Amino acid sequence: MPAVQLERLETCNLCGSASADILWQDVEDPVCGLPGAFSLVRCSACQLIYLNPRPTPGSIALCYPDNYPSHLPAATGPETMRRRFESLVFWPCRRLYGPKSPRTPPPFGTGRCLEVGCGKGQLLREFQRAGWDVTGIEPSAKAVAMARQAVPDGTIVEGTLETVGLRDDHFDVAILWHVLEHLHDPMRALQIVHRRMRTGGRLLLALPNIGSCEARIFGRYWVNLDVPRHLFHYSVATLSRLLAATGFRMTWTRPQINPSTISSSCAYFLKRHGISLPPLAGRLVYAAMSPAASLSYTMGDGGNMEVWATRIEP
Ligand SMILES: [Zn+2]
Repeated sequence: MPAVQLERLETCNLCGSASADILWQDVEDPVCGLPGAFSLVRCSACQLIYLNPRPTPGSIALCYPDNYPSHLPAATGPETMRRRFESLVFWPCRRLYGPKSPRTPPPFGTGRCLEVGCGKGQLLREFQRAGWDVTGIEPSAKAVAMARQAVPDGTIVEGTLETVGLRDDHFDVAILWHVLEHLHDPMRALQIVHRRMRTGGRLLLALPNIGSCEARIFGRYWVNLDVPRHLFHYSVATLSRLLAATGFRMTWTRPQINPSTISSSCAYFLKRHGISLPPLAGRLVYAAMSPAASLSYTMGDGGNMEVWATRIEP
């Protein structure tokens, strides 16, 4: 297998400062267990946290093995016990924030929706069912084939924002669902998205929140660090700044209900200290952590955040 090539980022992607402090060194891949140890740094000026050095754009694909969870088929079957448990434990946050999947806004006219990094097309399928005209961009050929099956009436293009030609001032909604943190140049990506959208259009983001309680508690053992695939880590403050710099205004945010980031971080912490949990114990940890996760979400704090922003003129 060819080796992953690394590159050093000389200036902060958000503010351009060349000054950064090391936050954690020798952080290992908590999700797939790939070899290698990485450093995360914090910009001295704007506090943006990022991986440095990091895999080059040309070799990052090597960091996504076939067992990467986002690339595996979704779990099937009713899992009745787990669903009942979750609907009970997370009732307060659902009551506050609505259903788990993002609310698709009603189409206005012939609403056009663009998803960057659409993966297998599950979210685009929801938007298409709600009446949206959908377009997806996805770099993985395998995922493109699955997305075309999921949204046969949509337009799914293999490539990236930089390589795919799309019309300017065209889209009413743009989505980056757990994508921004994987990009080598999120500033440029949002600038391109801004050009492709109509004024007043809405941007939907989902991404880890490095400012969350669980990130602070688990620190270098937080699974959402997901090295070396997550290249940037935003808090609400640094994300707001990125959005403002690229012509968007944050309008709404909610914690994403995803307590497995807590139980997986517990399991990873124990594993790094010589204790490997059997699968049943892992489920018990998940169940035990869920009430605390629910309380945290209800208080507005979660390991992942969903954000709506409005496109304004820069
Ligand atoms: Zn900075």
